[in-house]
Amino acid sequence: MATRRLWPGVGRLFTIGTMLGRGRRAYSASLAFAEVLRLPSNQRTKLVFPLQELQRFLVPGSNPDLHLKIFDPTLDDIARAESIFTASARNRIDYVSSAVRLDHAPDLRCPEVCFIGRSNVGKSSLIKALFSFAPEVEVRVSKKPGHTKKMNFFKVGRYFTLVDMPGYGYRAPEDFVDMVEDYLKERRNLMRTFLLVDSVVGIQKTDNIAIEMCEEFALPYVMVLTKIDKSSKGRLLKQVLQIQKFVDTETQGCFPQLFPVSAVTFSGIHLLRCFIADITGNLD
Ligand code: GDP
Repeated sequence: MATRRLWPGVGRLFTIGTMLGRGRRAYSASLAFAEVLRLPSNQRTKLVFPLQELQRFLVPGSNPDLHLKIFDPTLDDIARAESIFTASARNRIDYVSSAVRLDHAPDLRCPEVCFIGRSNVGKSSLIKALFSFAPEVEVRVSKKPGHTKKMNFFKVGRYFTLVDMPGYGYRAPEDFVDMVEDYLKERRNLMRTFLLVDSVVGIQKTDNIAIEMCEEFALPYVMVLTKIDKSSKGRLLKQVLQIQKFVDTETQGCFPQLFPVSAVTFSGIHLLRCFIADITGNLD
């Protein structure tokens, strides 16, 4: 497997990182991924490539395509992405500002990605997990009923901006649409929209608000399946296959490969970081 072939290269990357003196945090982040690499291969697959691990549970011969290989980075790529997500004096990861409308959004020119999903889908937990090597970043949550929900902008060094969009629910779908429609339609540097779906319950009626917007505006978007630690492998596989079928047959702009994640076990987090680094042009 690619893992073994690339091991010497990955080792070299850590040594270089340390020699360059990228600071204590970068060093410890590298160590954390080095620890991942030292895991037995089945545990490493479970953590880094959860979809690949699920594929082992398919009925032999049934062979549905989980599109595993569409985004299939090397471990070197994953290690590079980890360093982008690691805060240091040279790589500041900060909350920038919040906005309720596009014309209040900060004028940031670097590539942007945004995260949308219904309230309680696990969006703040996921963003916190992505920023686990920037612990001082405060992922603001405003859940009090009636409290204005905003788009929150985070700058990741000189690499990209991540936008935490307001959660939507069935109570006020038109508020959500009013707030985010212009942003989704007109934000020039928006490279990809990450649409979060709770893997325990699958795609809900309210998720169609976001799916229909992405489709209507012809946005390239990606489905991220949250809370995968909560289901048995069988249940999760069933949901994954259903969502996969939906993506294959009902969508135009959705990336065919799904990204299952857990903010609790960190399963899928490294791969998602790497995908974000890649689509924002930072792994070229
Ligand atoms: P948000 O409203 O989309 O920002 O959702 P939160 O991140 O606040 O999460 C909603 C609830 O789901 C909280 O109780 C979280 O602790 C829980 N949660 C979020 N992500 C996960 C996960 O990956 N695994 C588990 N088991 N629970 C999660």
